[in-house]
Amino acid sequence: MAEKKGPFQKVVIDQDICIGCGACVSVCPYQALELDENGKARLIWDMCKDDFSCVPVCPVNAIWKTSEAPATAKSKANWYRFSKPLSDAERKEFEEWKTKYGIAWAPA
Ligand code: SF4
Repeated sequence: MAEKKGPFQKVVIDQDICIGCGACVSVCPYQALELDENGKARLIWDMCKDDFSCVPVCPVNAIWKTSEAPATAKSKANWYRFSKPLSDAERKEFEEWKTKYGIAWAPA
C-alpha cells in the first residue's frame, strides 16, 4: 500500500454510541484504532492516515470522517489519544486540525 501524505482529516468516534465490537480496530490498516479501558473504540490520532475503512464497518454508525462528524460527537472527550509525544510538525498539524474541524477536547 502506498503511504498516504498528510495533512489528514482523520475520524471522529462517538464512544456513547460504540458497542465495542472491535470491527473498526480489525479493519484499520494503520493500527490507528483500539479498544480503550472501557471497551470503547478510541482513535490513535497520529496513526490515522485517512483510510476510512472503519467508517462503513461500524454496525452502529459511531465513526465519521471528521469533516462529516456531528458537533455532538466532536465536543466529547477521551475518544482519541496520541501514540507518543508529538513532534513540532505533528503538533502544528494537530492544532490546525483542531481549529479546522472545531474539535474542543485534547489529550492532556
Ligand atoms: S466498529 Fe463501531 S461499534 Fe464497533 S468498536 Fe468500532 S466504533 Fe465501536
